[in-house]
Parts: sequence; structure tokens; C-alpha cells
Amino acid sequence: MRIEQEIKLDFKDVLIRPKRSTLQTRADVDLTREYNFKHSKFSWKGIPIIASNMDHVGTFAMAKSLAKHQLLTAIDKFASLSEWKRFYAGDQQLCNYCLATTGIKKEDDELLERILDVIPTPFICIDVANGYTQRFVDCVMALRKKYPNKTLVAGNVVTAEMAEELVLAGADIVKVGIGPGSVCTTRLKTGVGYPQLSAIIECADAVHGLGGHLCADGGCAAPGDIAKAFAAGSDFVMLGGMLAGHEECLGEKIQENGQWFMRFYGMSSREAMMKHYGRINPYRASEGRSVNIPYRGKVEYTILDILGGLRSTCTYVGAQRLKELSKRTTFLRVTQQLNEVFSAFQVSELISES
Ligand code: 5GP
Repeated sequence: MRIEQEIKLDFKDVLIRPKRSTLQTRADVDLTREYNFKHSKFSWKGIPIIASNMDHVGTFAMAKSLAKHQLLTAIDKFASLSEWKRFYAGDQQLCNYCLATTGIKKEDDELLERILDVIPTPFICIDVANGYTQRFVDCVMALRKKYPNKTLVAGNVVTAEMAEELVLAGADIVKVGIGPGSVCTTRLKTGVGYPQLSAIIECADAVHGLGGHLCADGGCAAPGDIAKAFAAGSDFVMLGGMLAGHEECLGEKIQENGQWFMRFYGMSSREAMMKHYGRINPYRASEGRSVNIPYRGKVEYTILDILGGLRSTCTYVGAQRLKELSKRTTFLRVTQQLNEVFSAFQVSELISES
């Protein structure tokens, strides 16, 4: 056993230092990025925020709303071929803003093949909770071989050596995050994890050194956290909880004491496993929770709030483009980042607004 003594940081442990800037207004800030991917050679332009492939947020309705702003959606792996076809028939352009999600099982591979036969979506997201197994690396290699022109997003990992291994195995974008998710209980159940800001900084350095890209996945609870993730070196940021509870989400709407809520659960929760597989294997613990969250209406307002926040971050550090944010960032280690005096009041206000 050994102990690493260096302190690892989370979003809450830092703030971004403001810098002198010549920017006139936040309307001047360009949030779009253009990337050329290492293996697929595909070139993509848009705002690099992705709705998570959780069944609640990774929906076709979400993709429709987010694509209007050039944001991406990872469609959950339980979406059927006929749902994909219907979506594609509605507007063929929209699939350029979608990722098709798959797992490492044979049936995942078969469904993916049937989808990609008819839907030309450029991205594949290979999603497993634990990206450290040889079986997963083999699966990334096999997909790389089978789909040379697709942009592969693979994860999740949190350390530089494994991030590098995934790029070498064929991943274009490495997904980083173990345990930070809003409905994740991995750290509680297993004691395993890595503070997300440090994971991003360390993996970004490794992945970029090989010409790969990085997607930070999990732990963003406010627009400022998304800004910190980009500032730390992420090329993409994936969101679950921040996009949950909207009209575009899939899930039961529940009324309690006159207020509307929506059911939201982790993809490794008991609820998700029962829904999609009808059982929980006795050797497996649930690593996700279920919550009822306040219903928030259309996702459009949340998106505008997020993009407005990001533009403002860029203005504070003098970054005219999102691309410059990381270079212009100095993080300050802090012991407190928010004044919590009215936080209870804000929560009740949020609920009464919705
Ligand atoms: P959030 O943005 O809600 O903080 O994090 C979203 C991410 O949490 C997802 O993209 C996924 O990587 C992770 N996640 C989703 N469901 C579960 C779960 O049940 N258990 C764990 N460990 N992680 C989850």
C-alpha cells in the first residue's frame, strides 16, 4: 500500500482568477470550437457540451433542443433502431449532433451496427463505469478497426496512464470521471474515485500529448463548474444532472404538495437495472441513486444560462474564444467559494418558480 501525498482538487476547491481584458462585451465571446480527431480524421465544429448518455437526459427530444445551439447529445444505448429511424426521418441534419452509445456486450455491438447501417451519426460513445479492464480496451480496439471513420469516445478513466492507453487503443476522445456524478454512489460503495478537477488536468496533459481529446464527465453542478472543467483542459464537458428535470427528459413526472418533480436515477442504480434488465445480479451492488428533482420546464432556458455563464467566464479572463480559456486561466486554491447565507431560500425559490 502507498499513499500519494499531493492534494488532488475538485471544482469546489478552486476559483478562476480574473485578468485584465480588452473584451468589450460578452456577446463578443465565441464558444464554438473546431476539432480534428486523431483517428477518425473527422472535423467537428460546435459548442463542446454533451448531454450524458443517461436514459433521462440522452433523449432525442434533448438532441433536438441542444442541436439548435450546436451542442451534442449522447443518445442512450437503450434507444431502439425504430426510434433512431423516426428521429432521422424528421431531420437528417440532427444526427450530426448525436453520439450513438454502446456498451461492451455482444448485443450492444449488434444494435450499434444496425443503427450505424442507416444513421450516419459521426460519433460512437463506448460507455462503461470502469474503463480500466482489458476487456474494455479490447472493445475499443475492435470498434476502431470496425469503424475507422467514426469518432470514438471512450471511458471512464481518471488517470494519465489509462487515458493514454485508450488513445493508443483507438479512442479519439477519452471520457474522464469516476465517482463525481450527481446520482453516483461509486465512492460510497467502493471507496474508489479521483477528485474531478485534478483528474481532468492530469488526463488532459496525457491525452493532448498524443493528439487525443478529452471529455470531462460528471460533477458539474453549476455553470461555473463547466467553465472550470474547460479551463482545466477539457475539450468537451458532459452533463447529466444539470440537464435533468426538463421537458425534453424521459421520466415520470410526479406531483407532491402542489409542486411538480421528475424522477432521475443513475444508470447503475437499482431502478435503472430493474427497468432495463429486469434484475440485479446478486454479485453486483447498485452504484447509483434515485431522486425526485424539481421540474424545470424547457431546457432552452438552462442552456442559455449555461452559455451566458461561460461567456462571462471568458470575459473575466480576457478570452475572446473558448479555446483561449485554458491558456488564460490561473486557478486559485480556496477554502470557500460561495456565500451560503441564502442558499436554503434559493432552493425554495427555485422550486416555486418551476
Ligand atoms: P452529473 O453531470 O450528473 O454530475 O454526472 C453525469 C455522469 O454520471 C454520467 O455521464 C455518468 O458518467 C455518471 N453516472 C450516471 N449514472 C451513474 C450511476 O448510476 N453510477 C455512477 N457511478 N455514475 C453514474
